Amino acid sequence: MGDTPPTLPSVWLQDLTWEEAQSYLDRDRVVLVPIGSTEQHGPAGPLGVDTYVTITLCEDTAQRRDVVCAPPLWYGDSSHHGGFAGTLSLRPDTLIEVVRDVCRSLASHGFDRIVLVNGHKGSNLPALTSAVRVLHEEELPNVIFAVADPLHLARSAAPTIKDVREHHAGELELSHVEHRFPGSIRMDRLEDPAIDFDELFGGFVGDDLFGPAPDGVDIIWSGAEQRRFAPTGSLSSSLGVSADKGQAYHDHCVGRLVELVDWLRSYEGPLGQEEQR
Ligand SMILES: [Zn+2]
Repeated sequence: MGDTPPTLPSVWLQDLTWEEAQSYLDRDRVVLVPIGSTEQHGPAGPLGVDTYVTITLCEDTAQRRDVVCAPPLWYGDSSHHGGFAGTLSLRPDTLIEVVRDVCRSLASHGFDRIVLVNGHKGSNLPALTSAVRVLHEEELPNVIFAVADPLHLARSAAPTIKDVREHHAGELELSHVEHRFPGSIRMDRLEDPAIDFDELFGGFVGDDLFGPAPDGVDIIWSGAEQRRFAPTGSLSSSLGVSADKGQAYHDHCVGRLVELVDWLRSYEGPLGQEEQR
């Protein structure tokens, strides 16, 4: 399917007037909600990497399908990066309540296909999923919620694009930001921290967020502990960062999000429209 011509002056809700927002709601009901973080991303990445990731995924998807995006949330669950200057964190309970209030507001205006687009990978996902599961069950049964993250959107593509294991401040996420925001990555500060996860975590914790992973468990570490075992803030090598890899990764994720928007427009949920409360 070809791209949809734009009908609004911006895909960003904060750039529209209320009348423009109403005109959108008169014809559509999909909204993308970008959620990131402000946290250390090693010596090469700016603190806003995760938010830049979700801003660009949302913006490019929205432009291709003429849908709107809520303003980005620049804060996430980042306490485990708190040992590094500049990291700002919401407690999971706070994040859950912020997300719920944003979704309640969106739903009150008629947005009923709400896609949370997370740029902070596994660290935000438990809170985001918990937030909207309870909302959908108890308050907003007619709103379809989706939680998207490049970690899952790029499950098939990531292993074919990246050259090394990908953990925090790694090759793919920094390549992605360098592709869409050229010059934002300090290319002279790329590095391989050579952290041995097996030695650190007894073989129970995988060192590649895209897998493969061991039969494992989640080991919880604090900001102080991370500062000790990853003193630069990188948890995997960023030496292979390139804008070309970032483009391949970005295009794959946006392509999948575009497919999601197309599908959501017709999806009514397993109960169908009539049986919803
Ligand atoms: Zn990140």
